[in-house]
Amino acid sequence: MSDRYKTILLFGAPGVGKGTQGKILARIPGFFHSSTGDIFRNLDAQSELGKLFFQYSSRGELVPDDVTMKIWNQNLYANAGLGLFKPHADLLVLDGLPRSVNQANLLYRYCDVLRVIHLVCRDKESLFARMLKRAMKENRADDGKPEVIRRRFEVYERETIPVLDFYRKSSNTRVSNITEVDAMRSPAAVLREILDAIVPIQEAHYNELGNNG
Ligand code: ADP
Repeated sequence: MSDRYKTILLFGAPGVGKGTQGKILARIPGFFHSSTGDIFRNLDAQSELGKLFFQYSSRGELVPDDVTMKIWNQNLYANAGLGLFKPHADLLVLDGLPRSVNQANLLYRYCDVLRVIHLVCRDKESLFARMLKRAMKENRADDGKPEVIRRRFEVYERETIPVLDFYRKSSNTRVSNITEVDAMRSPAAVLREILDAIVPIQEAHYNELGNNG
């Protein structure tokens, strides 16, 4: 199990800013950002998998777990093959995975989750507005319709929120491995709070790598 990827999870409701922060972290050497939403959107829309993704995302539903895990795994493997992801040296920043307790269980054999960053926004209306705006800017079929957004929130509350408990229980220290960050602050303020939580983890990882040659 020591070969599992050292992982930081970006966790939170749709539209809360996981992707924005993940992309910023990806610019810092030593972090590799992996977003299942981005991986799915980059599929050829005419391919079988691309069509399957559209079928689920356009209704605000989750893609089935086996397909999600397989595509995510293949993408990571391809990035490792290209030298873009260095499994031993990098910290993996996961965004959009796991989205259910079953996915958290399936992920266990691949990822050693060192910290969960929970981007918190209790104001659903502003998330709603953010998502409609993003849909126009980024041409995202899933977020263009209010009823689809509403469905995504329902799925988040029912399937994804319980993932927090999964990690709360699996923490083998007394200190919680979940950091709550107020997602409604400015992007730089959110970033600073995330960095406060994860810089010590990167430092420890660097030192460990140095000591092991
Ligand atoms: P957001 O950034 O709004 O949270 P994403 O871009 O992460 O949304 O995901 C877009 C869509 O991709 C989801 O609505 C879902 O259909 C699919 N998807 C992304 N990640 C997963 C996952 N881990 N499991 C199942 N479906 C997923």
